[in-house]
Amino acid sequence: MIDLKNIWLDKLKQVNEKLYQYKTVKAIPSEWVEDTIILDPEVSRFSGRFSYSLSPYAKEMIDNLHPKSPYKIVSIMKGAQSGITQGVIVPGMAWIIAEHPDNFLFTASDKEIAKLTITQRFDSLMRSSGLSHLIRPNVIRSRGQRSGDTDFSKEFAGGSAIIEGTNNAGKFRFFSVKTVFMDDFDNAPRADKKEGSTRKLVEGRQTSYGNLAKTIYCSTPTITQTSNIYEVFLQGDQRKWNWPCPGCNEFVPSEWHIKKEDGTYAGIVWDLDENNELIESSVFFKCPECGHLMSNNEKHTLNSKGKWIPTARPKDKYYRSYYMNSLIIPPGFISWVELVKEWLEACPPKQKVKVDLLKVFNNVRLGLPFEEKGEAPKVMQLMENTRDYKIGIVPDETCEEDGNGEVILITLAADLGGVMSHETEDVRIDWEIVAHTSSGASYSINHGHCGTFKRGRTKSKKEHDEDYKRTKWTYMHGMKYSVWPLLKEVIESELESESGRTYSVKLSLIDTGHFTKSAYQFVKDVHSPHNWVMGIKGVPEQNFRRNTRDIAAVKKSPNVASLYLLDVEQLKDELAANMKLRPSDDGTQENGFMNFPEPSGGKYTLKRFFKHYESEVRKEKTEGGQVVGFKWDKKNSSVENHFWDVRVYNNAGKYIFLDLIKRTNPSKLKDLNWGTLVDLILNKQ
Ligand SMILES: [Zn+2]
Repeated sequence: MIDLKNIWLDKLKQVNEKLYQYKTVKAIPSEWVEDTIILDPEVSRFSGRFSYSLSPYAKEMIDNLHPKSPYKIVSIMKGAQSGITQGVIVPGMAWIIAEHPDNFLFTASDKEIAKLTITQRFDSLMRSSGLSHLIRPNVIRSRGQRSGDTDFSKEFAGGSAIIEGTNNAGKFRFFSVKTVFMDDFDNAPRADKKEGSTRKLVEGRQTSYGNLAKTIYCSTPTITQTSNIYEVFLQGDQRKWNWPCPGCNEFVPSEWHIKKEDGTYAGIVWDLDENNELIESSVFFKCPECGHLMSNNEKHTLNSKGKWIPTARPKDKYYRSYYMNSLIIPPGFISWVELVKEWLEACPPKQKVKVDLLKVFNNVRLGLPFEEKGEAPKVMQLMENTRDYKIGIVPDETCEEDGNGEVILITLAADLGGVMSHETEDVRIDWEIVAHTSSGASYSINHGHCGTFKRGRTKSKKEHDEDYKRTKWTYMHGMKYSVWPLLKEVIESELESESGRTYSVKLSLIDTGHFTKSAYQFVKDVHSPHNWVMGIKGVPEQNFRRNTRDIAAVKKSPNVASLYLLDVEQLKDELAANMKLRPSDDGTQENGFMNFPEPSGGKYTLKRFFKHYESEVRKEKTEGGQVVGFKWDKKNSSVENHFWDVRVYNNAGKYIFLDLIKRTNPSKLKDLNWGTLVDLILNKQ
């Protein structure tokens, strides 16, 4: 017997399924974008109807937003100017609003940067594409209230968009969103102090959406150990953009350097002429399979036939990750020849690699993180900066001959050590005097110490044996063996120079981190209009340098007069970089270059002076298993680091001097820097 009832039910079911399918089919994002999006010529150099023909690699990226795509975490590690914001993120948001409305969050490192993307790119794209009408309030409000369209939120039928900064991740807990776009992700803090990991915080906002939630992470990477985007990239399937080689038809990854099994390289290749100058016509992309050479002019064709190929097993099958560099970005942006030129600037033939430039090239052009080495500065190289001027003499003529202009400022910095207890008073102040010049290069003038204290661990056997003969000094003021009058004499003594002019120390910096009370007493007693004396100490709550952007190296204490707080980690990074500077071929010295006098009388020797410069190493700082920053630490407890510290303070002296001058006329001098200060002092303004 035919079961009519069941046949009928089956039919109904089929129809329903079709109906259901029809309803759930959403336009494929990349197709919708090409059909719908029109770019304003004021915003994009490629105006008019949007097409992925110039950036075909972006299609697969945006299509991950489609609900039929199972990928939940999509990360894009890229170079700068890669067009991902314009080709994936901004149109992706428009697609959600028009085709698949639900709540989403867009973030950049801070709210103002996020706002720029929204006002300059998103709003304009919506306008030029005729989609602005989609943004409207979800609730009818009385007149004068928000329209549902602000720089920080957008309302539309079926959802709303929130625009936030990842530096304000604490706010995230108020949201519930299905999709998250995290642009500029490397500049997000790894963790919020109170709320914990930024990633967990964001992904926690999506829990109510379960499998439907998606997060797009997008950024240019920075430092390997702390890079956010590199971390999520490694968790995905690490797709690389491949070109079909016209020589052998193999798909080959579009990478800068491809190391082959025989040790030779493919990827971008070039030749230099006899003067080590680039021969522009020699720049090609060499196939790692057959050696075929492809030129920059073929890029468009190569891209149009290109495809993404995964290179790793993802941590989770729903994680997808992409790596792209500037080799593949459309013609009209940076060319391969320009890339090679930038590379050669960072790695000049037969010269030392310029690490800072190489880092920028890696990050911005190759879209790769750069590994910072935790190495100790090399002191033998620093000793090569020993010159033939005499200790205690201001080398003003040498300075001019070196092309460093004039001596602008002389600073003294003092590091306090020793013991002050009921049983023992035994102290020592180490100091150095430094001349800072017009060019920013410096000349050490003299170093020495007041008092005789030495840590037991750093004493030689002879010093141990003869220790009973030693005079012990104190930080108590007014006592016979007080070290303070000795230091005062050094600060106030006149300095002779090569030219016969006399100079004096203008600014002295006294470490007040320990023996604070008597150090302040000294600062107060000795400070005068002729000899400025300031207390210094490290920023109290800071115990390492976070891998975020720079903050001011020095800051006047808001609570204590005559006290400056130093970002010691940053100043040490700067000093370590200065130690690596070499004079150029014509003998000129860069800003920060350090000169030292001819050693004599036991001063400026390897053991008593230069060794201190390699007493500390820069180490990774981890929190909950993640690298969050760096910190300089003593190699071990028996090394002496006074003259390293003292030079850190002397370098801070330049910034403190600038700040003190600014404070004499804040409205006129607020933008004062070393260059304009030099002009001011030399009456060139
Ligand atoms: Zn080939």
